[in-house]
Amino acid sequence: MSVETIMPICDAMVIGAHPDDAELCCGGTIAKLTKEGKNVVLVDLTRGEMGTRGNPELRAQEAKLAAEILGVKERVNLSMRDGYINDSPEALIELITVIRKYRPKMIITHPHFERHPDHEASHKLVRNALFKSGLAKIHTEENGVAQNTFRTRKIYCFMQSYQFDRKPDFYVDISDVHDIKLDAVKAFSSQVFVPGYEGVEEKPTRLSSPEFMEELIARSRYFGGVIGTSYAEAFLSVEPLGLNSLSRLID
Ligand SMILES: [Zn+2]
Repeated sequence: MSVETIMPICDAMVIGAHPDDAELCCGGTIAKLTKEGKNVVLVDLTRGEMGTRGNPELRAQEAKLAAEILGVKERVNLSMRDGYINDSPEALIELITVIRKYRPKMIITHPHFERHPDHEASHKLVRNALFKSGLAKIHTEENGVAQNTFRTRKIYCFMQSYQFDRKPDFYVDISDVHDIKLDAVKAFSSQVFVPGYEGVEEKPTRLSSPEFMEELIARSRYFGGVIGTSYAEAFLSVEPLGLNSLSRLID
């Protein structure tokens, strides 16, 4: 079977360094995609074991619940070492194998310029893996069977701690799914502020403060204002954006 005849089985793959990155940064966009019947796969590179609060087991439970809330059926964790993400040959082969398995029509991940070193390293790893996934001489296997090459030009970056170093390339209106996004974020109750939650008595972090949730909402509200809706999420496109027809921009 040639590569061209294999249709992607995944519409969008969201790759985050830590469980909760996807929800915090583009949970609304994910909810909107699944609401529209699109198949989204979440890939967490680490189990978040370096996090000040919670533990990997608890975060895995939270991640499962958050995925259910967002309507995501498949969530993969690559168990890379938290705090030490890099694009080593081993890490690349691991991620290429996942990309070739799911063949996503688009990939959403961290931007290249970020506060947490793992986030920047994830951007580099994803870009590197996506390119190499298209190289026939890089051999990967799934259950002992050689995988076909795969590459997509649709790779987008969500906004996280830092503002982008240029204007966003596009915004997604998440007004109708904003509540779902917040529910998915609150599923990570060991990490963010959830009123009445008494599960872990650990050091407070910026993420666990009530102000952080307000900031999260305020940012979506601001971007919504930019495009004339209630709430929105902002994105960068790694490759120039092209349309096959201007009618794509007509709602
Ligand atoms: Zn993170």
